[in-house]
Amino acid sequence: ALVENYPGFTNIDGPTLASNIFEQVNNLSINYKSGEVKEIIDNIDYKQIVLENEIIRAKTIIIATGRQPRELGLNNEKTLTGRGISWCAICDGYFFKDKEVAVVGGGDSAFEETLFLSSICKKVYLIHRRDTFKASNYLQTKVKSLDNVEFILNSNIKEIKEDNSKLSGIILENSLQETKELNVSGLFIYIGSVPATDNFKKLNILNEQGYILVDKNYETNIKGIYACGDVIDKSLYQLTTAVGDASTAAYNIKKYYFS
Ligand code: NAP
Repeated sequence: ALVENYPGFTNIDGPTLASNIFEQVNNLSINYKSGEVKEIIDNIDYKQIVLENEIIRAKTIIIATGRQPRELGLNNEKTLTGRGISWCAICDGYFFKDKEVAVVGGGDSAFEETLFLSSICKKVYLIHRRDTFKASNYLQTKVKSLDNVEFILNSNIKEIKEDNSKLSGIILENSLQETKELNVSGLFIYIGSVPATDNFKKLNILNEQGYILVDKNYETNIKGIYACGDVIDKSLYQLTTAVGDASTAAYNIKKYYFS
């Protein structure tokens, strides 16, 4: 998606901005490793970062794991990902050229992706659990004007049908508990996001929604563990605030490290 609110760029696409930042960090010769952090263990003076096959020791850590897409919670949602279910219309939309697909959600993401898919697919069903939307009026007006978009409101996806380990349709249930089957080839899920903090639950640094609580220095209630960006509890989730959070966290780590 296009980023249109980052200072210095009228607009820039997200992946380009990310790779520019990566290049900038690489120019500073900072070591990096790829891998999933399974757990962080606090040993007061130092922390252990547990990866699949390795444990890294550090005096301080910044957690910046961001958010991940919210799931519908249906049992075959994970296994059908890449087999009819997609979380990224721009990446996967062309697999569904001239086919019928469904988008679920009522926010800006669902509307923006519906707009994109409608230019490739034969038909797009936009499914939403209510009859009013969080999406901006601008996007609503644009999507409502499209001939190949059909709205299905006050409805939830009850079941994802599969055939030969591929999505073959979806079953919807409306507020009157009436069910209806749609024989779509693809399902795009855009129902918001949740903080990526499942592996940090044991640390006791999360609020009820799973966001990390930090103080004004971006430090958690554990000395030496900091967090920034979309993963923390705050009032404005934007790239600009994430970058600001990170600067303040890094500045305070430097003070802590040399104290
Ligand atoms: P969002 O605004 O949180 O919308 C999520 C939508 O999914 C809501 O309509 C919600 O329904 C629905 N939903 C949540 N859980 C559900 C469930 N379990 N089953 C069915 N539906 C469910 O998320 P978003 O659209 O990803 O947007 C996130 C943020 O990014 C927003 O601030 C948005 O403005 C911003 N954004 C902006 C742009 C742009 O400016 N072009 C583009 C994309 C995103 P309810 O309405 O009933 O709660």
